[in-house]
Amino acid sequence: MHWLFGDQLGPHFLRPGEAGPGRDTPLLMIEARSVFRRRRFHRAKAHLVLSAMRHRAAELGDRVTYVRADTYRQGIARSVGDRPLTVHHPTSYAAARLVRSLGQVSVGPARGFLVPRPDFEAWAAGQGGRRLRQEDFYRWVRREQGLLLDGDTPAGGRWNLDHDNRQPPPREHSTLPVPPPYRPREDEIDDEVRHDLDRWERDGDVSFVGRDAPRVFPADRAEARAALKRFLTHRLPTFGPYEDAVLAADPVMSHSLLSSSLNLGLLDPAECVEGAEAQWRAGRAPLNSVEGFVRQIAGWREYVWQLYWHFGEEYRRSNVLDHTAPLPGWWNELDADADAVQARCLRTVLAQVRDTGWTHHIPRLMILGSYALQRGWDPAAMTDWFHRCFVDGYDWVMIPNVIGMSQYADAGRMTTKPYTSGGAYVHRMSDLCGPCRYRPGDRTGEQACPYTAGYWTFLDRHRERLGHNHRTAQPVRQLQRLHDLDEVRGQEQARGDAPP
Ligand SMILES: Cc1cc2nc3c(=O)[nH]c(=O)nc-3n(C[C@H](O)[C@H](O)[C@H](O)COP(=O)(O)OP(=O)(O)OC[C@H]3O[C@@H](n4cnc5c(N)ncnc54)[C@H](O)[C@@H]3O)c2cc1C
Repeated sequence: MHWLFGDQLGPHFLRPGEAGPGRDTPLLMIEARSVFRRRRFHRAKAHLVLSAMRHRAAELGDRVTYVRADTYRQGIARSVGDRPLTVHHPTSYAAARLVRSLGQVSVGPARGFLVPRPDFEAWAAGQGGRRLRQEDFYRWVRREQGLLLDGDTPAGGRWNLDHDNRQPPPREHSTLPVPPPYRPREDEIDDEVRHDLDRWERDGDVSFVGRDAPRVFPADRAEARAALKRFLTHRLPTFGPYEDAVLAADPVMSHSLLSSSLNLGLLDPAECVEGAEAQWRAGRAPLNSVEGFVRQIAGWREYVWQLYWHFGEEYRRSNVLDHTAPLPGWWNELDADADAVQARCLRTVLAQVRDTGWTHHIPRLMILGSYALQRGWDPAAMTDWFHRCFVDGYDWVMIPNVIGMSQYADAGRMTTKPYTSGGAYVHRMSDLCGPCRYRPGDRTGEQACPYTAGYWTFLDRHRERLGHNHRTAQPVRQLQRLHDLDEVRGQEQARGDAPP
């Protein structure tokens, strides 16, 4: 029998291969209620995961034994006993440990990623002890996979087209003039999931954060394929230029919304990057957009997955900045009125998360993550919050993104400097600041922007460490010229945990 975890739902998990199932091997899926009891997940995430698992079970029909149990262990005991099982490598340390501890499971290589783990380790070993760099890794993946290459050289002559991307939003529009993304239609499986979640909540068994709403992310292969097709055809051409920009009235802009489908295993990353390249080769999308999208998947997604294993399980406890403050209730609960926040950027983004369990990478990094970093919130608590509240959040993807990328808790193993900024960056890259009650240029007084003031107090708290980093030494030197630093410190201390 072959066991499919809830993030192994696409056909590439059933292709024959090492420790994979044969054509007719019976399959096992386990819906473990304890997973939902351990954390207060966003309602939309719980819905999506259960809906996707049940859709897959319906597709597989008699071939699958679908067990609803309290824990995985009970599910196995009830349905398999001590008969042997195969599984593809799970995506978290905890699940890998569980699988090993059962003693009856042969574990095959992971699927759903472009690069096998031993190949990554060989690449990392070949870096001669230097810091691993995402850019180097990405170029190596392009070569290995033959992606966007003309012979031996990068298509168009350059590996990196970031310079053509990263533009501020178009000032004349409040939404990008592109066709809307694919939206699925709920069916009777969704009705059943909604009914079950309501019942569990009523019984006091589990509780959720965030709002329930019609499902907006794909739950089966057909929906995920339709979402990919729509993105590649209609939205990829404008992906690049505005990938780092934020518009208050257009949370999605030209982003693909494919992360949850990739992470559930409904889509194979290879079909996404190959599909994007084909659009460029056919002259239907410009190279900067296609390269930008390929970089996100073959570069970032792949890199994050590999680093999760490469850095080891202890990495999650990294906390070099010694940030220990708990997340305040208004943030942690999500439901507790995001509208009480007056800083327009944070209010807008928290409301997006509350309502959909998703926001794109810049709000995650430069609005949510940056706010927490500036205030010294516990990176492990932030990781847990992101994991619970985002439809695409899984241990492997959250740990490097939050601990490393967003909270700089690993002293720069993943990024060369902390990602945080004052309000000026948010103002330049979005239309969020205009009507805000705070002013990005003010660091003190009634209208002091919490990001601008927070940025200086963050640098001030860590001036010793950041003064020695060549990428942050300059702003640390600027601290000396801030005549009102004492006032900024006092003001931010007084702000404390209150919603800004
Ligand atoms: C603090 C923080 C937390 C994040 N947490 C998650 C998470 O839990 N799950 C998740 O899938 N992504 C996470 N990301 C990465 C990124 O924000 C999301 O993948 C992206 O916003 C999803 O929307 P999209 O599918 O429209 O992405 P697009 O902008 O359309 O990008 C295309 C694809 O690239 C991949 N990708 C791009 N960047 C990353 C990255 N850093 N890590 C992994 N995949 C990436 C995703 O699969 C995404 O679907 C996080 C980023 C930050 C800064």
